[in-house]
Amino acid sequence: MAKIEDKAKAYVIQCLACGATCSIDKEIIIGLHKGIYNECQFEIDHSHLMIKGYCKRCQESVLESS
Ligand SMILES: [Zn+2]
Repeated sequence: MAKIEDKAKAYVIQCLACGATCSIDKEIIIGLHKGIYNECQFEIDHSHLMIKGYCKRCQESVLESS
């Protein structure tokens, strides 16, 4: 098994509403990977890891419409 640190590179979170992206700190990805492994004994497929969410600007409009 290759080191998690070597796999965890440029991950981004993308806004579902406007498409804005933000890079995610490597340490957060490593923590996520370890947490998931501890919980489910699953290895994340790093080639498909894309986190989705809502950026700060869009959170207000999403909350208003719900
Ligand atoms: Zn947005």
